[in-house]
Amino acid sequence: MAKKQFKAESKRLLDLMINSIYTHQEIFLRELISNASDAIDKLAYLALTDQNVGLNREDFAIDLRVDKKLGLLTVSDNGIGMSQEEMEQNLGTIAKSGSFQFKKELDKNNASDVDIIGQFGVGFYSAFMVADTVTVLSRKYGETEGHMWQSSGTDGYTVSPCEKTTVGTDVILKLKADTEDEKYSRFLEQFELQNLVKKYSDYIRYPIRMEMEKSRRKETPEGETDDPDKTPEYETYTEVTTLNSMVPVWQKAKKDVTDEEYDSFYRDKFYDYEKPLAHIAVSVEGAVTYKALLYIPAKAPFDFYTKDYKKGLQLYSSGVMIMDRCEDLIPDYFRFVRGVVDTADLSLNISREMLQHNRQLTIISNNLEKKIRAELLDMQKDRRADYEKFFAAFGRQIKFGIASDYGMHKDQLQDLLLFYSAKEKKQITLKEYVDAMPEAQKHIYFAAGETLSRLEQLPQYQRLSDKGFDVLFMTEDVDEFIPRTLMTYAEKDFRNLSTDDLDLSTDEEKKAAEEAAAAWKDGLEFFKTTLDGKIIRAEVSPDLGSHPVCLIPDGGMSFEMEKYFQKVNPEMAMKVEKVLQINPEHPVLKKLRTLITEDPEQAKRYAQILYAQALILADLPIEDASAYTDLICGMMA
Ligand code: ADP
Repeated sequence: MAKKQFKAESKRLLDLMINSIYTHQEIFLRELISNASDAIDKLAYLALTDQNVGLNREDFAIDLRVDKKLGLLTVSDNGIGMSQEEMEQNLGTIAKSGSFQFKKELDKNNASDVDIIGQFGVGFYSAFMVADTVTVLSRKYGETEGHMWQSSGTDGYTVSPCEKTTVGTDVILKLKADTEDEKYSRFLEQFELQNLVKKYSDYIRYPIRMEMEKSRRKETPEGETDDPDKTPEYETYTEVTTLNSMVPVWQKAKKDVTDEEYDSFYRDKFYDYEKPLAHIAVSVEGAVTYKALLYIPAKAPFDFYTKDYKKGLQLYSSGVMIMDRCEDLIPDYFRFVRGVVDTADLSLNISREMLQHNRQLTIISNNLEKKIRAELLDMQKDRRADYEKFFAAFGRQIKFGIASDYGMHKDQLQDLLLFYSAKEKKQITLKEYVDAMPEAQKHIYFAAGETLSRLEQLPQYQRLSDKGFDVLFMTEDVDEFIPRTLMTYAEKDFRNLSTDDLDLSTDEEKKAAEEAAAAWKDGLEFFKTTLDGKIIRAEVSPDLGSHPVCLIPDGGMSFEMEKYFQKVNPEMAMKVEKVLQINPEHPVLKKLRTLITEDPEQAKRYAQILYAQALILADLPIEDASAYTDLICGMMA
């Protein structure tokens, strides 16, 4: 029979499996059992609505069979099975899900770091880590004929019709011969298999059965009495034994599950190699009765902030999974939460469209949202380091959540925020900021820019910090939308250091500033004409501390926002006009003022240089760098 070739990328993965030096080869069993369980899920689901299937939930099982003489291990299921085309499709091509991500990661890591295998569902091909030849016998539900798929590795596979009396799939592994380092024959030992099932597949909802050899004390034949001096005799017998406990962890009472069990369930189920930061076990009886088990991951998946990431919780109805990612169970701003919801109150043959408007789901989702929020606030209070880890991973999502939908969710989310406090030199909440405000401080001050060190240089910051006022430094591009959306927090309004009136001056100071502005009228005009078109106006500011000048944007939009929109949508981006603020008390400006009448050419050079310095301080590019250096050199020579 002609051999068919694997698709190129599958071949590569297969190669890797065959030559694997990976130490956790045992996970192949978990993978095959998961596939079997998925196949049963599909048929079990069908059976609920289709009388013809003729199987009840209790009839489904996964069987492990061992043939020690021939070195064969079989994983057998009575699930949906595969047609000939499906065998070619599914087993000849690398699958979309777990294995594909695995491959992508491999490409990134140059295939050298084989250790990452364990982080992913590597799927069917993992069988080649332990087997020379893999044979799959399958008959699809609804078909009368079976098919056999067989492969001994990268040189290809064959598919042919075969005898199969029952619906379902047998995966038969011809185990590799033992070597000095590797005892593949251990996968024929019943205790090894039993342990592996317990370790990796305990929550599989169908019985995983195996014929086990056991021993028992021989019964004393009738009529005889026990002779206490005689050593008791034992006999061996075999018995089909269910190896897994089957009860899904979310169905168990909280007190019966350890933290380790919760964590390991998460890692197995969601293919994360990092421990979750928190789990939330929910059991509700009432208007809707359901159980849920939710997790807050420690790290964002690599595709989290892309369109590829699909949010949602797994939805079960009485132990049967009906949807892998039910989006309606979780609001967008908590889309990082993973987990399962199990409710008997949903009709099983409900369509996806109907699910969307399902009242029960809405109740569950509202309730879960509250639980997640409460859990996060607890973490913020009691486990700050973990919370900071959470916020580093998903804070951006929370911020988007506040800014989106016209701020509709701001009340739920504002207390989850963390910003960098210039005074405390660490991340703090808005509440912590407001609680620490000195009596004289009336506003929440913030500054937005690319780096903390830049922000520390802002003249306005120095003025505030001299007064003992804290400033929140915002360095992420979405940050600036937060004060705009919230408007106030605890009845305090937000003031942007580089755009807003900081409200720091006393009445006398204000009056002095007005007088200075009047006295500087001609000087301000001089700046505007000299800097022709670069600034919209010049003004006197009492807030500049030791700095001579500073640039602020005209109108409500900041330079950071201009940059952000420039990045996101260059065509629509608006231009922000610049206002040059000057410090009339600064010696350089005093000098400039006399130069305007005494040496206007020199005064113009001063104005140009001061403008360039203001650009630097505002973290804006100098438009003509070589003209600027020429100017400086001219003055120095
Ligand atoms: P994944 O499980 O990540 O999709 P696998 O490589 O493990 O990838 O499996 C590929 C596909 O082969 C599965 O998605 C499924 O469609 C099919 N398959 C594997 N094992 C079985 C089985 N026991 N019964 C039915 N279909 C199966």
